[in-house]
Amino acid sequence: MARRRIIAGNWKMNKTPSEAVALCAELKDLVKNDAVDVVYCVPAIDIVPVVEAVKGTNVKVGAENFYIEDKGAFTGEISAPMLKDAGVEYIIIGHSERRDIFGENDILINQKVKKAFAAGLSPILCCGESLALRKADTYKAWIERQITWDLDGVTADQVKKLIIAYEPIWAIGTGETATADQAEEVCGLIRELIAKLYDQATADEVRIQYGGSMNAGNAAELLSKPNIDGGLIGGASLKPDFGQIVNA
Ligand code: PEP
Repeated sequence: MARRRIIAGNWKMNKTPSEAVALCAELKDLVKNDAVDVVYCVPAIDIVPVVEAVKGTNVKVGAENFYIEDKGAFTGEISAPMLKDAGVEYIIIGHSERRDIFGENDILINQKVKKAFAAGLSPILCCGESLALRKADTYKAWIERQITWDLDGVTADQVKKLIIAYEPIWAIGTGETATADQAEEVCGLIRELIAKLYDQATADEVRIQYGGSMNAGNAAELLSKPNIDGGLIGGASLKPDFGQIVNA
């Protein structure tokens, strides 16, 4: 089945609100493509101005993090209903930086996936192995375990709307990209796992992105692979190159 391509930028902790608005203006004409879902996942403080800045364009807004409770005594946190009310449609969950720097584990990530769906947000669920696991050739089992845990109790209908981002940690922000064949191998494996955990129809619908130093030069080859339905892009999402990736 034909899955719609989804190209999402992960701005990480970059861009003040005024810089964010300026970047939206800079990218506006470059990211025009009605055949592709285009998403800017932005820092929490940039959400309101970016939602305003992309009004009337094809760009949707995503967030980079939230907490699993709706409201209450959780100083410093932001909830899924708050994001939804602000105009957010996508949410990155399980990014390796949140797993490694902020200690998020698969139990919390699983709760976040379920909460995001309950709040009407589309999760972009990240998975991926370290260089050590890649070298030890245990990366396939690692990724299967991550996804199996992260999707515990998530329904087939929800998984059909899920985006899974395969992001080998050794390729994030390093300039080192997985080859298109390496990326396709794991994205294909993820789809097979979804067929095993759910059914073939669900596996055919779930969208799988590759992320890890995707750029204007390598995007077309990565995106030509049958199981790669899009990209999650860090560094290159802050530059005009992002437009070339959207239109690759
Ligand atoms: C990311 O952090 O999701 C990512 C893919 O970063 P980069 O493109 O900079 O490797």
